Amino acid sequence: MKWSYSIARISGIDIKVHATFALILAYGAFRWGFPKGFEGESSLPGAIFGMGLMILLFTCVVLHELGHSLVAQKFGLTVREIVLLPIGGVARLEKNPEKPLHELLIAAAGPLVNVAIAVLLFFAGGLAVSFGALEGRTLFQTTDGPPTLTTLWAWLFTANVALALFNLIPAFPMDGGRILRAALALKMGFSRATRIATGVGQAIAFAFGLFGVLSGNILLVVVAFFVFMGAGQERAEEQARAVLTTLRVGDAYNRHALTLSPGDHVSKVVDYILTSYQPDFAVMQGNGFLGVVTRDDVLKTLATEVTDLYVAGIMRRDVLTVQASQGLDDVRRLMGEKGERIVAVNSGEQFLGLVSAEDIGEALVVSSFVQLRDRRRATAEAEAD
Ligand SMILES: [Zn+2]
Repeated sequence: MKWSYSIARISGIDIKVHATFALILAYGAFRWGFPKGFEGESSLPGAIFGMGLMILLFTCVVLHELGHSLVAQKFGLTVREIVLLPIGGVARLEKNPEKPLHELLIAAAGPLVNVAIAVLLFFAGGLAVSFGALEGRTLFQTTDGPPTLTTLWAWLFTANVALALFNLIPAFPMDGGRILRAALALKMGFSRATRIATGVGQAIAFAFGLFGVLSGNILLVVVAFFVFMGAGQERAEEQARAVLTTLRVGDAYNRHALTLSPGDHVSKVVDYILTSYQPDFAVMQGNGFLGVVTRDDVLKTLATEVTDLYVAGIMRRDVLTVQASQGLDDVRRLMGEKGERIVAVNSGEQFLGLVSAEDIGEALVVSSFVQLRDRRRATAEAEAD
């Protein structure tokens, strides 16, 4: 993420802080540097205390994200990084867990860390009160108090209870929503579980957003907006995944594609591109596949070469090969990992055709349309009964 700076590395995970995090420090400094009922009396120790509180709060957020991350690593998932933003932290996983139970445990681990911290603080606080280090009488009411150890304790305790409760709200994509989706997925299909969990998430986000507007709480409106969008995006991704897993890459290649021989000239490819709108061409020697020439290759050649080259001179030979029986979703993921835009589709040793990232996108749009139409038809028929 841009504007992020690495501050530590724990268990192979980069912990990064976003530049806007400085706003939170400024907020802490301001709130305790110019305390309530401020009458021209600012306090430097108060400002330092406020910044310290913010750093401790975000240390708890890091521990929360590490809770998710370490459990994810236990299940063999790669955690790319943890980023701290003013609105909280994010642990970025390379991919989502596939087993519902894994997702459930990974999602629950974050809030559990805050529960554990709160319990520890509770007992430590009790001990400190009995030794006279904390003021027992005002312990639970002084989150806003002067820069004392008692305020520090109250603030941290409240923050961890709040972090646990807030994240457990069952609004996807928050932890509670993930727990709900995973719990549902243990009983039903993953797609249906996602539809229900993201629907619940959007309903809750809408309610919070409305409440935020009515009560003038801008922060709540912003958070509700992000939760609402996040839930919608997750649902769309899951629908795409569900469609792609039913399709084979053998369904997506163009059976009537024009092909080239190594001895063809680039000018012939230009003709093909202009008349057929086909962007990528397989270069064939008889039935044998040699390589690929793309529209971009041709445009680059036209821009730099004066002579009319042979396609054998500009084709790419190192083309990734997949089998026609492989799922479109697997192939899409593979292409993403390898950074490839085109793959050659084979049946055994026999070359069938080329599939590009755009072909996969198109197959996805068409089949989700077909699925939607079928579902609508089924609903209409059910209503007619
Ligand atoms: Zn979390």
